[in-house]
Parts: sequence; structure tokens; C-alpha cells
Amino acid sequence: WAKEHGKSSVSVYDTARQAASLEVMALQNELQRAIDGGELVLHFQPTIDLASRTVTGFEALVRWQHPERGLVGPAEFIPMAERSGLVVPLGSWVLREACRAAVTMGEGDDAPSMGVNVSSQQLVRPGFVEEVARVLRESGLRSQRLVLEVTESVLLDDFEAAERALNGLRAIGVSIAIDDFGTGYSSLSYLSQLPVDILKVDKSFIDRVCAEDHSASVTLAILEMSRSLRLQTVAEGVETLEQAAWLEERACGRGQGFLWSRPVPLADARALLLRPLEDPADVGPEDDAADD
Ligand code: C2E
Ligand code: MG
Ligand code: MG
Ligand code: MG
Repeated sequence: WAKEHGKSSVSVYDTARQAASLEVMALQNELQRAIDGGELVLHFQPTIDLASRTVTGFEALVRWQHPERGLVGPAEFIPMAERSGLVVPLGSWVLREACRAAVTMGEGDDAPSMGVNVSSQQLVRPGFVEEVARVLRESGLRSQRLVLEVTESVLLDDFEAAERALNGLRAIGVSIAIDDFGTGYSSLSYLSQLPVDILKVDKSFIDRVCAEDHSASVTLAILEMSRSLRLQTVAEGVETLEQAAWLEERACGRGQGFLWSRPVPLADARALLLRPLEDPADVGPEDDAADD
């Protein structure tokens, strides 16, 4: 009986696993179609200079305009795209579109920067620096306006390949930001070795910066470190005027968050450049569910 029973539960398990992998394959096919067929869209979220309260740049954030499911956020498909390798063609599309969009936002010395998230697979792939150089050339965007955002984990995956790519990007004039900073493992010595320009303090610290000593200490330590390494700092996920004031008092250069703007379509992003930022009102927690 035990044998029978064991056998049948194995086959039930196998069936469940087959169904799950079929589902994953179907989703991969769908995403591949989305990349080829124009179902991906970019929204843009501004970064703000805290002292002057002006827009200094934007970050491009990908969404999937799904025919049945509506606008799907990156948290729901980037992890799968990374596991399947689809994040490489997806990332190429994002890079090209973001550079084209940036060109429509102005050209002068004070034209806004454009941040693009880059996953570790893209960064360490041979030919990535050449791809970035080609996209810049074809779009006509000055390399100084492009900021590539990588997370600390990129540096753990394959430090030497990442370092080589970052040096190549620095050589063509592109800036590098470390995204979600403080959540991973980056030592001061790593950071001083790498051509990094910007640290983006993770939202989890900013959330509690006014309410909890631990988050305040971590944020202060990051600000200190930025100053000694001559890096810029961007506070991510600023939602309240109290947080903005706290950061400004401690000379954090920039902020990004729903307090000023959610990620918005290109036309709305361009409109943010034409008029002074409205006096923001705190974003209540009840607003959180409805992303852009
Ligand atoms: P990220 O690069 O750290 O982007 C910031 C995320 O925080 C965005 O979520 C943004 O909408 C959200 N955010 C900004 N300010 C606030 C705020 O005040 N409150 C709250 N609650 N959220 C805020 P989004 O667009 O859902 O993106 C999530 C993550 O997906 C990104 O985190 C990034 O890691 C990834 N991602 C987005 N676009 C791309 C892409 O083109 N390529 C890759 N590889 N990853 C991407
Ligand atoms: Mg980012
Ligand atoms: Mg981030
Ligand atoms: Mg994040």
C-alpha cells in the first residue's frame, strides 16, 4: 500500500509541476510577444533637487500594457524575465526607448538626466558597453545625460565582469547609480574602487527616517559616505513633507517619490518640466494601492 500510495503522490506532484512549468512557459511566450509587439510602455518619475525643488532628471520604469490584464507593474514580470533571460531583449528595448524619450525632453546643458535600470545579466554580457554607445549615437542623446542604475547584488554576482563594464561605461561618459542602496552588501572599499556617481538610498530607510533611530542612522551614514566619496545622493520613495524636510536639513541632494510625482507617461513628464512643481501634499497611505 505504501508503495502504491507513494507512487501516486509522486505522479500527482509531477502533474502539478508540469502544469506550473507550462504556465511559466506560456508567460515567457507572452512576454516575448509583448517585447516584439509593442505592449511594453515606459513611465517616467522625476528626481528633485531638494534645495531648489526643481526637476533634475527622470527614471524610466517599464510597464506591460497587457491586452487582458491591463497595466502590469514590473514587480510582476521582471523576476520571470531575469530567470528566463528575456530581461536582456527587454532591457535593450527600455534603453533605446528611454534615450529617445530623453531627447524629446530638451537638449541644453540643463536638460534632465535619464535613469535606466539595468539588470546584472545585461551589464555583464559581452558587448553591453558597445550597445549603450550605439544607442546613444543613434538617439542623439549626450552620454552625460544617461544614468544607468544597478543594484548592489550586481557587484556580488560577478564583480570583475561588472567592474569591467562599469569602467567601460565611465569611459564613454555615462553615469552609474547604485539603486536600493543600503539593502545589499557593499563595502566602502568596493565603492571607492568602482566608477560610481550616485547612491540611491532605498525606500525602506526613507519610509521610517523620521520615526525610527535605525533608519535615521543608516541614512545618515550613507549621506556621510556619499560626501566623503564625492557621490550624489538620491532618497528613494519620499512620500511626506516631513521626510523631505529631514533630508534637506541633512544636505541630501536629491529626492524621488510620490510626494512630487508618481511615474507618469512621457507627455506628463515633459509637462513637469514646463511649470514649477506644485506645493506637494503628503501622499496618504490609502493612495498607495493605485500606482500611476
Ligand atoms: P526601482 O528602480 O528601485 O524603482 C523605484 C520603484 O519605487 C518604482 O516602482 C517606483 O514607482 C516606486 N516608487 C517611487 N517613489 C515611490 C513612493 O514614494 N512610494 C512608493 N510606494 N513607491 C515609490 P516600479 O515602477 O513598480 O518598479 C519596481 C522595480 O522594478 C524597480 O525598482 C526596478 O528594480 C524594476 N524595474 C522597473 N523598470 C525596469 C526596467 O526597465 N528594467 C529592469 N531590469 N528593472 C526594472
Ligand atoms: Mg531604479
Ligand atoms: Mg530603487
Ligand atoms: Mg527599489
